[in-house]
Amino acid sequence: MSVKFILCQDNFILTILTGSFFFGYYTKLFIRLRQRKKDFFMDIKNYEFETGIYRPPSEGGRASLLLRLTRNCPWNHCTFCAMYKSEKFELRKPENIIQDINVMHDIYSRLKKISQKTDPKGKIGTQAISEFIQKTPDLYFHQGISMLFSWLVSGGKTVFFQDADSLIMKTDHMVQVLNHLKTTFRAIQRITSYGRSRTIVRKSASDLARIHRAGLDRLHIGLETGDAALLEKIKKGATPEDHVKGGKKAIKAGFQVSEYWMPGLGGKTMSKDHAKNTGSVLNKINPHYIRSRPFTPRPGTIFYKQASKNELDQMTPKEQLLEIKQTIQTLDVTSRVCFDHAGNCWTAPNGRLLLNQSYEGYKFPEEKQNLLNLLEKGIEHL
Ligand code: SF4
Repeated sequence: MSVKFILCQDNFILTILTGSFFFGYYTKLFIRLRQRKKDFFMDIKNYEFETGIYRPPSEGGRASLLLRLTRNCPWNHCTFCAMYKSEKFELRKPENIIQDINVMHDIYSRLKKISQKTDPKGKIGTQAISEFIQKTPDLYFHQGISMLFSWLVSGGKTVFFQDADSLIMKTDHMVQVLNHLKTTFRAIQRITSYGRSRTIVRKSASDLARIHRAGLDRLHIGLETGDAALLEKIKKGATPEDHVKGGKKAIKAGFQVSEYWMPGLGGKTMSKDHAKNTGSVLNKINPHYIRSRPFTPRPGTIFYKQASKNELDQMTPKEQLLEIKQTIQTLDVTSRVCFDHAGNCWTAPNGRLLLNQSYEGYKFPEEKQNLLNLLEKGIEHL
């Protein structure tokens, strides 16, 4: 006998290993489990809201609410990225997003009511959450509930719009969502989103300003590189000029801008141009944040296939650090330069992390020399 059922928190997974001795018994059990899953989803119907997977690290540690405005990526061609490759892009209707906000607010109101029994201000804590879950145990299986609880416990201050390029929504729709969100949850202090440079370039300056006025504060933009040849190679769908135009336009509209660059993306061959031209594009934009996301070949990408055949022109950790140093030397900005991702994992001679991984990073130009000294130390150590 060899049929095995695994029940996990988010899903019911049936794994059939081999054999058929207990086939009849297990088939019935499987049907019951499927029925249970169906019933469970019906039970929590009133608490359904949608949430996606990806968000920047700076929206995780601070427990942001993840509100899904669109599904997946409207571009989806970047050769280094595997995030949404098997998924189709979809816009969500504003009424469905507003319904999600209302469901979240309903959960919030119930938690608040429970909390007020012990705290006059109704501060939501773990005790209220556990009482709420006991009353509605099906919520334990809800995909987004722990995210919502963390957000409420941490004060409900920051929100991130998912997925890869929310600005592609119609401006009227986004403003409608922003207005509803801000009037429903009044403690919100910051709302951010990913945005592609090309989408920003296409959007009118007045639409961008309207979205910013309605409450979207910060845009996270995937620059990756400022080198034209490398942008073409990775099929980014944006030129260096698009990046400069998009970044500057977003800043002019009032947004805080976070630009993400990918050290090591061009391999050894394109490293020098990647460093020099990325620095040059960032200087022209002068964004609020510059964030390093070192290149790693991800499963599901052409780079991963090349790496597994030993055909990838990949840089060593020391070469990556040298490239970062060259990029930093080129920078003439008043940005904060951040290494707030686990991929920035070079170690210092004392065995600790070489670079500060805080979301606020190093303030430029004040801390530029300090950062260069650290990089030099790391390079010597490797
Ligand atoms: S735009 Fe972003 S999410 Fe879309 S394919 Fe490129 S890197 Fe991936």
